Amino acid sequence: MFSFKSIRSRLTVTFLLTILAVMLIVSFFLAQVLERYHIKSLQDNLIRSGALAGQFVEGHLLEEIDPVRLSWLAENFGRQSDARVIFVNEKGVVIGDSVRLGGLLGQPLDREEIAAAFAGETGFSIQYSELSRQKVMQVALPIDEDGEIIGAVFISSSLQGIETIMGGIRRLLLITTLLAAAVAGAGSVFLARRFTGPLELLTEAAGRMAEGNLEQQIEVKSSDEIGRLAHRFNHMAEQLNYHTKNLRNFVANVAHELRTPLASLSLIVKSLRDYEMEPEQQREFLDDLDSETERLIALVQDLLDLTTLEGGEIAYEQFPLDGLVRDLIRQVAPRFERQNIRLLSDFPAEKLFISGSWLQLRQVLQNLLDNALKYSSSGGWVKITLWSEEGAAGVKVEDTGCGIPEKDLPFIFERFFRIDQARSREMGGTGLGLAIVKETVEAHGGKVWVESEESQGSTFYFKLPLLSDDVNDS
Ligand code: ADP
Repeated sequence: MFSFKSIRSRLTVTFLLTILAVMLIVSFFLAQVLERYHIKSLQDNLIRSGALAGQFVEGHLLEEIDPVRLSWLAENFGRQSDARVIFVNEKGVVIGDSVRLGGLLGQPLDREEIAAAFAGETGFSIQYSELSRQKVMQVALPIDEDGEIIGAVFISSSLQGIETIMGGIRRLLLITTLLAAAVAGAGSVFLARRFTGPLELLTEAAGRMAEGNLEQQIEVKSSDEIGRLAHRFNHMAEQLNYHTKNLRNFVANVAHELRTPLASLSLIVKSLRDYEMEPEQQREFLDDLDSETERLIALVQDLLDLTTLEGGEIAYEQFPLDGLVRDLIRQVAPRFERQNIRLLSDFPAEKLFISGSWLQLRQVLQNLLDNALKYSSSGGWVKITLWSEEGAAGVKVEDTGCGIPEKDLPFIFERFFRIDQARSREMGGTGLGLAIVKETVEAHGGKVWVESEESQGSTFYFKLPLLSDDVNDS
C-alpha cells in the first residue's frame, strides 16, 4: 500500500519528481536553443538571398525601370528562397513584387525594415501576420551604387516551417520525458525495494528478538551500507544469543554451586538438632559447618569479584609489579612451608611499573599461587619469575604439581570448570579462580596463558602493559 511515511514511497516519488524536473528543464532549454538556431539560419538565408537579389537588380535600377521585368526577377528569387521578394526604389515605392496578383506594385512600402535599409543597415523583424495567420520574418537590405542608396530589397518568409519542426521536436522531447520518467519510476521502485527489503527483514527480525527469539539471522546479499548493517545485526544477534546462553549457564552453575554447601549445612544443622551427640562429635559437626560456611563466603566473594570485573570498574593506580609480588610472597610463604613446598622467586634488576588495581592484580597472583599450592604435593616447589620485554611486564608461576591433561587446557579459564570436581571442592575451590585471573588480566589490557603436562606440573603466565620509561624513571 502507498504510504508517504515509508522510505520506499518517498524514494520513488522523490526520484520521479527529480527526473521529471530535470527532463523538463533540459527540454525547455533544448527547444529554445533549437528554435533560435532555426530562426538564425532562416535569417541568414534571407539576408544572403536578399543581398544576391540586390546585386542582381542594381543595374536595372540605373536604367529605366521595368516593373514587369523586376517582378519577374523578384518571383524567381522568391521561388528559390521560398520567400516573398519586393524591390523598392529610392522613394520606397514598390517597383517589383514576387506576388503578381494582389501585389503591392506601384504602392509605397512604408515599413520600419525599409527605413533601416535606407539608413544603410539591415532591417529585420518577426511579426504575426493577421492576413496569413502565421508568424513572418522580414528582412530589408539597401541597394547601393557607389555608396549611394538607390533602392532596397524587402524579403519576407513564413516561420511556418520552423514551427512545424519545433512542434515535432517538442512532441519528441515530451515523449522522451515521459519515457524517462516511466523508466526512472520503474527503476526507483526496483531500487527502493532493494534498499528497503532488507530493512523490513531487519525490522521483523528485531521484533522477533524483542519477543525473546534470539536465534535470528538475516540473509546478507550485498556488501553496501545496508549489507553491512545486516551483517552487524547478525553478529549482534549471535553475540546476544551467546551471552544470554552463557548467563543462563552461569546462573544454573551458581545455583548448583550454592545448593551443595547449603544442602550440607542443612544436614549438619538437622543432625545437631535431632540427635544426641557427644561434645567431641558435636564439635566435628560444628567444624564442618564452619568450613561449609567458609566455602559459601569464598564462592560469594568470587562471584562479587567477577561482577565487579564485568562492570569494568578498575581503580587505576601506578605501582611496581615486583613490589606487589614480594609483598604477596611474604604473606603466603608460611602456608607453603607448612605443606613442605619450596617457594622460589626470580626478579629482574629493574622495577616494573604498571598501572592497574593493586587489589585486583594481587587477587590474580593469589589465585595462581593458591592453585599451585592446592595442586602440588609435599616435597615439590613453586617458582615465581618476573621479566620485562618490549612494553610489557610478565609473571610466570611454575609448579611441580599434578599438571593439566591436554584435552582440558582449552577450558581451564572457563567459569566453574574443574578437572576433578571432588578434589577442587575438597580443597575449598570454587571453580572461579582462573576465570577471575583471565578476566582481570584482560580488563587490564594484558593476556594470560598456560603450559602444562599431566603429572609434570603447570606453568601459568600473564603479561601486563608496562608504563613508559619516564614513569619508571620518576
Ligand atoms: P578451583 O577453585 O577449582 O581451583 P580454578 O578456576 O582456580 O578453580 O581452576 C580450575 C581448575 O583448573 C581446577 O579445578 C584444577 O582442576 C585446574 N588447575 C588450576 N590450576 C592448576 C594447577 N596449578 N595445577 C593443576 N591443575 C590446576
